[in-house]
Amino acid sequence: MNKILVVEDEFPILTLLKYNLEQAGFEVQTADDGVVGLEIALVQKFDVILLDIMLPSMLGTDICKNLRERKNYTPVLMLSALGEETDKLKGLDIGADDYMTKPFSPREVVAKVKAMIRRTEFSTLDASSQKKSNVNPNHKNGLTIGDVEVIPDLFEAYFRGNKMDLTKKEFELLLFLMRQPGVTFNREKLLKDVWNYDFAGDTRIVDVHISNLREKIESDTRNPKYIKTVRGFGYKMEVPLS
Ligand code: CA
Repeated sequence: MNKILVVEDEFPILTLLKYNLEQAGFEVQTADDGVVGLEIALVQKFDVILLDIMLPSMLGTDICKNLRERKNYTPVLMLSALGEETDKLKGLDIGADDYMTKPFSPREVVAKVKAMIRRTEFSTLDASSQKKSNVNPNHKNGLTIGDVEVIPDLFEAYFRGNKMDLTKKEFELLLFLMRQPGVTFNREKLLKDVWNYDFAGDTRIVDVHISNLREKIESDTRNPKYIKTVRGFGYKMEVPLS
């Protein structure tokens, strides 16, 4: 199923887009805030991303620029308000694939999204027939944060494109944290959800695993970029924004 991310802060428009895209058979994820939208777009793989321009905390155009700077080339459809940003958008090299001006009919948006997916599928076919890549860091169901990528289906994790040697629990812990970036978990919660402990276990096992993971994905384990310690509480996976 093709996955679409819609970042839009006007609730009626968001609801309308979500409904129509789902009716057309897409899996839809939504965000109503710019930074949150960017984080989701960086962590999960989507087939198309719809970005409103005027958003709280970060402009849609900046989200698009940011994605391209990070070599994320997911097709982006910008949604702009009439007269507001269209000209600017036309003239700016922000790396968006297409744009639509509000008000639009949901059917137009669905048609455009379908066309964008067809285009990507063709170009992916072209690319794969031309060069055979040995690793596939852009696996569809993979989660990526910075240099770290986890592919749950294959039970594989990569750091800077190199496959990591992780134990089953290290893998599960990394996957658990990556699925909810920015959320802090205490050790008891991690024991319960990753180790399936339903009793009070020794929480030091969590610390040991965190420390092992850091050895593998942090260039400076004393000043970690990805797995942060939240003092007096627990750990969280952070999406480095710069
Ligand atoms: Ca808006």
